[in-house]
Amino acid sequence: MHHMTLAEIARGLADKKFSSEELTRTLLARIAQLDPQINSFISLTEDLALAQAKAADARRANGESGALLGAPIAHKDLFCTQGIRTSCGSKMLDNFKAPYDATVVSKLAAAGTVTLGKTNMDEFAMGSANESSWYGAVKNPWNLEHVPGGSSGGSAAAVAARLLPAATATDTGGSIRQPAAFTNLTGLKPTYGRVSRWGMIAYASSLDQGGPLARTAEDCAILLQGMAGFDPNDSTSIDEPVPDYSASLNGSLQGLRIGVPKEYFSAGLDPRIAELIQASIKELEKLGAVIKEISLPNMQHAIPAYYVIAPAEASSNLSRFDGVRFGYRCENPKDLEDLYTRSRGEGFGSEVQRRIMVGAYALSAGYYDAYYLKAQKIRRLVKNDFMNAFNDVDVILGPTTPNPAWKLGAKNSDPVAAYLEDVYTITANLAGLPGLSMPAGFVDGLPVGVQLLAPYFQEGRLLNIAHQYQLNTDWHTRTPTGF
Ligand code: GLN
Repeated sequence: MHHMTLAEIARGLADKKFSSEELTRTLLARIAQLDPQINSFISLTEDLALAQAKAADARRANGESGALLGAPIAHKDLFCTQGIRTSCGSKMLDNFKAPYDATVVSKLAAAGTVTLGKTNMDEFAMGSANESSWYGAVKNPWNLEHVPGGSSGGSAAAVAARLLPAATATDTGGSIRQPAAFTNLTGLKPTYGRVSRWGMIAYASSLDQGGPLARTAEDCAILLQGMAGFDPNDSTSIDEPVPDYSASLNGSLQGLRIGVPKEYFSAGLDPRIAELIQASIKELEKLGAVIKEISLPNMQHAIPAYYVIAPAEASSNLSRFDGVRFGYRCENPKDLEDLYTRSRGEGFGSEVQRRIMVGAYALSAGYYDAYYLKAQKIRRLVKNDFMNAFNDVDVILGPTTPNPAWKLGAKNSDPVAAYLEDVYTITANLAGLPGLSMPAGFVDGLPVGVQLLAPYFQEGRLLNIAHQYQLNTDWHTRTPTGF
């Protein structure tokens, strides 16, 4: 049962082959048995899951249908879940039970999903390895000595290990696409504003976006359908109709213009990944796509710009965690200043503290123009590069990451080395564009992802290309040994 995709589960439930309750019990038992190896969950919500599964079965018995009705999922632990711990991977929020559901959570619950639990993540979504969680590192099911990617590493590892078919995740600089690449999954970061951020604990508000992590494009379409849409509670949510993503999966790729940026194939890219990307290009050419070389000349400036803007926004967003209103409070504070300093010093981990300091520095009066303003100007240039490119091509293709998943601990002493791994993903966040990563092969037994980027609101096109690719390749069907 645990090998089924969301699409297969929907068919099985509709055909009464099994009930949502049976499926939920099977997956909860599997999580109890296997999760200790990978540490992908922070909290399990067995009682809620069984209640939701029974309710979904009752709704089906009453004649209701729907692709998500009775489907087991999990939420990254930064989506607020009413009455349930919402920790953001931090000691700071270990004792925080959200007083309300995030819009994504309530929309999916209304569609009939079953929440198995809350998944592990880098603290406050800062990271590319899922090693900065207060609840311990997550392990990659493909090789337990390697990282699963981050920050949505718990969602990715759980889905890759077949503990559940799909999970929610968020992507500020790559945290859906990069763990998807590292664990052989399909992950989609939607256009900024497509999925509500209300109740999603903020890291960098102008970059954060929620989206689906699953094994196939078909399943990403199903989960995105339940997540996307206008939300008056989120002032950056966009009031555009949500297309039927599943309906667009079968479009032909004949004549599709794919741009391949020449900057992508530079010295930093593992040549074995470059080869797999070339192979995926050939596959798409067979399906009718036309390849064009393009240029994104400002790409080299994107990492420095991102690592000013994201920490700047984080330093502002995380100022609310002061020991007074939310979460952790230090013991016996001497005075107010001591309360703030020790609560934050003890509650936040070192990567979070580093980012708060970098951000506060970049925003300080004397340095604002030199760093923050400059970074915003680069952001515009990065966006302009994409707008120019999309005059000539329909989508942009390249590697998701320059290297496969590294060993646990390998980059701990050098945060900048980890930041450089985000080179292919962060530009989409700076520009607000949708991006998808899908499985494209293996290097030393570790999965490799190919990334597709599209113009605003073209999620359907990305899913269409990925689905056609997956009908003609079998990388996405490979299962890690032992799971
Ligand atoms: N690795 C990037 C960072 O650490 C992106 C993280 C994310 O997308 N949440 O900021």
